[in-house]
Amino acid sequence: QKFVYDFTEGNRDLKDLLGGKGANLAEMTNLGLPVPPGFTITTEACKVYLDSGEEPAALRDEVSAHLVALETTMGKKLGQADDPLLVSVRSGAKFSMPGMMDTVLNIGLSDDSVVGLAAQAGDERFAWDSYRRLIQMFGKTVLGVDGELFEEALESAKHAKGVTVDVDLDAGDLRKLVDEFKGIVAKETGRDFPQDAREQMDLAVRAVFDSWNTDRAKLYRRQERIPGDLGTAVNVCSMVFGNLGPDSGTGVAFTRDPASGQQGVYGDYLQNAQGEDVVAGIRNTVPLADLEGIDKPSYDELMRIMETLETHYKDLCDIEFTIERGKLWMLQTRVGKRTAGAAFRIATQLVDQGLIDEAEALQRVNGAQLAQLMFPRFDESAAVEKIGRGIAASPGAAVGKAVFDSYTAVKWSRSGEKVILIRRETNPDDLNGMIAAEGILTSRGGKTSHAAVVARGMGKTCVCGAEELEVDTKRRCLTTKDGTVVQEGDVVSIDGSSGKVYLGEVPVVPSPVVEYFEGRMHAGADDADELVKAVHRIMAYADRVRRLRVRANADNAEDAARARRFGAQGIGLCRTEHMFLGERREMVERLILADTEADRDAALDGLLPLQKADFTELFEAMDGLPVTVRLLDPPLHEFLPDITELSVRVALAEARQDANENDLRLLQAVHKLHEQNPMLGLRGVRLGLVIPGLFAMQVRAIAEAAAERKNAKGDPRAEIMIPLVGTVQELEIVREEAERVIAEVEQAHGVNLRLTLGTMIELPRAALTAGQIAESADFFSFGTNDLTQTVWGFSRDDVEASFFTAYLEKGIFGVSPFETIDRDGVGSLVRSAAEAGRATRPDLKLGVCGEHGGDPDSVHFFHEVGLDYVSCSPFRIPVARLEAGRAAA
Ligand code: PEP
Ligand code: MG
Repeated sequence: QKFVYDFTEGNRDLKDLLGGKGANLAEMTNLGLPVPPGFTITTEACKVYLDSGEEPAALRDEVSAHLVALETTMGKKLGQADDPLLVSVRSGAKFSMPGMMDTVLNIGLSDDSVVGLAAQAGDERFAWDSYRRLIQMFGKTVLGVDGELFEEALESAKHAKGVTVDVDLDAGDLRKLVDEFKGIVAKETGRDFPQDAREQMDLAVRAVFDSWNTDRAKLYRRQERIPGDLGTAVNVCSMVFGNLGPDSGTGVAFTRDPASGQQGVYGDYLQNAQGEDVVAGIRNTVPLADLEGIDKPSYDELMRIMETLETHYKDLCDIEFTIERGKLWMLQTRVGKRTAGAAFRIATQLVDQGLIDEAEALQRVNGAQLAQLMFPRFDESAAVEKIGRGIAASPGAAVGKAVFDSYTAVKWSRSGEKVILIRRETNPDDLNGMIAAEGILTSRGGKTSHAAVVARGMGKTCVCGAEELEVDTKRRCLTTKDGTVVQEGDVVSIDGSSGKVYLGEVPVVPSPVVEYFEGRMHAGADDADELVKAVHRIMAYADRVRRLRVRANADNAEDAARARRFGAQGIGLCRTEHMFLGERREMVERLILADTEADRDAALDGLLPLQKADFTELFEAMDGLPVTVRLLDPPLHEFLPDITELSVRVALAEARQDANENDLRLLQAVHKLHEQNPMLGLRGVRLGLVIPGLFAMQVRAIAEAAAERKNAKGDPRAEIMIPLVGTVQELEIVREEAERVIAEVEQAHGVNLRLTLGTMIELPRAALTAGQIAESADFFSFGTNDLTQTVWGFSRDDVEASFFTAYLEKGIFGVSPFETIDRDGVGSLVRSAAEAGRATRPDLKLGVCGEHGGDPDSVHFFHEVGLDYVSCSPFRIPVARLEAGRAAA
């Protein structure tokens, strides 16, 4: 096994082995670009070290051999007293971890060689400055000395001299500073700064290996989902100097603007400076364009190199370079990070330049970026006080006056006020308030809590589970951790993309991309926004190649119409319980509590026309496209009065001796129906089987609405879906009744409705017996919310706010399984159920309508397992279309 590669031996495809930096240094070397010679120690060597605590036995000799070769190329030896070769030792993992790991420059300097360097460079100041930098960096990163100590010594040296920038310190000052720095090292570590160049190098390499496992590196990897066992490579590179005087300098450059994608000259340059000075912002840099005036030959060469790199990498590259006395050197390049908007623009620009094709362009963007572009954003530079942080549940930037109940939310918004509805948690009674509000803030509940799911469905900004905020709805106020009190009427701003909560108004910038999807801005117009044009083209590529169809979760005509504008190819989930909120809730309550057949029929008769009108609207909005209507699936408690409140009311009334008969009966019934685990209780198909006539009423409403649409020359394509089925027997009973009702309606209206009847697969038993269930189902729609809840045994309403943070921190999962499908567990059930279902019924239609349907990673998974469609909230539709395209491209 080979542990060391010369820069001439590697290439950009060897990132696993050489890390990103090493692979790209090799690539540039082989392109003939001016890269200072050097070599890379592999990630494999690092892994051996991290596993065993020792460098692999062969490493020392291999390094020696490569060092000799380097010394021969350079014509001088590492640390040689009269003319030292100096090297940098830099970390470089496969994935860039900016600032997470260590770098040491100027290795090879010592009390002797600093004199030689001064003589060779003809610049004493430069030599001592380089030496003090070595001791400082080495002391801090290799020997673990507190960096502040060096900074303080440097500051007091400047102070003593009465200067503010380090270039004003002369050779004598720096020589004194070196003595001080050496004193700091000796005092803090109990040993002298090592004078042997090879020892410096070996220790630095080991320090880079060790830096893989610092706390901040581990934390960064967890956040970025970078595996912890990759290890880092180490690059040993001969030094070139940007601090040799005004004809030297160092800079960073981008081949195009990472913020807009515009081609041009972007970057910063700092004269007479070394490496980290630019990033650290120690002195003010000048725009890269100014380099043309400072050193035209180097500038021209840099421009040529940038073009070479862009054409070679076929992408935006970022670059670090140094100019040493008029000679340009490339120190690093990589495909550069960019903003979401630039990603779209660059992808289409590269297509136009003929550098990449459309399939490749799709890989250059992603759904998360598109989602980002769709939300109005806060101007983060505004100075507004942050008062807390919750879970980023539904993105967007919302500003409004704090209100603590739905009634006030509606009242204030009617009089033209913008409001933020603040609740401990929301329930269906808050719906009107949520609709009226600009955004929703709760102190309880996770990403699938009521507030989060409903807000996402409405495309409304929501921050939930902000536990550090104490919400007191009685006193109409909220108290922050440090005691600040926000009263009703105070303006707050919530950022649903970051979870941040502010006191006061943060300025908001609207999204042109949504204006485009809404049809209010046209990509074809001459003056159309460049970003909108780019998004338009990329969406067209995605739609052309994707195999998955994309439907919407929508329960009303308005959402359906928006979904259609956003590209929905039907409705994959209409949650009929959402049609029974507000005033209709009482009708359902009456139905549930009915104890005579007459009461029940009366309640059903009241509901039928309302339901029918709902469906008529939906079928109209989705004319010609499938609409999957799910029969009622409420957790029962949501439709009944709160047991505690009712008990108190009845107790108070009894004390006053005016208890009313109705309340007493209601309380009795509520007690009887009260459940410890409503999510596992009487809901879904169970309710349909227990309450006679309920599902039949819904099926009749669907069938009649469809029949009337048909007779009005519409093209309704209804699909009836049964929730929470665990066994085929449940489905068979419902199907029998439904078919009877449908036949009646068809006969009465003289039409053939071609209604299909399918089921959700959202319980493990349903997934495990999918082969049997398919006997009685025309389609499956995976309800991955409940399936995740029941497969993991995680309450979807509670866990995200309670212990998921701890789980994420411990790395048990990198992302909530309610957000991204758990491929190994829940996903494997989806896969096997899809296979079993199709084995029984090859034409079985398969979809998914849980929240995962709009999650980028999950969409790829659903593509892989061969579903026919995903269904998601209207605002996620463009994301799902894009990701479905990316999955297929
Ligand atoms: C599901 O469980 O995934 C689903 C779509 O149904 P609901 O979220 O309404 O329970
Ligand atoms: Mg469900």
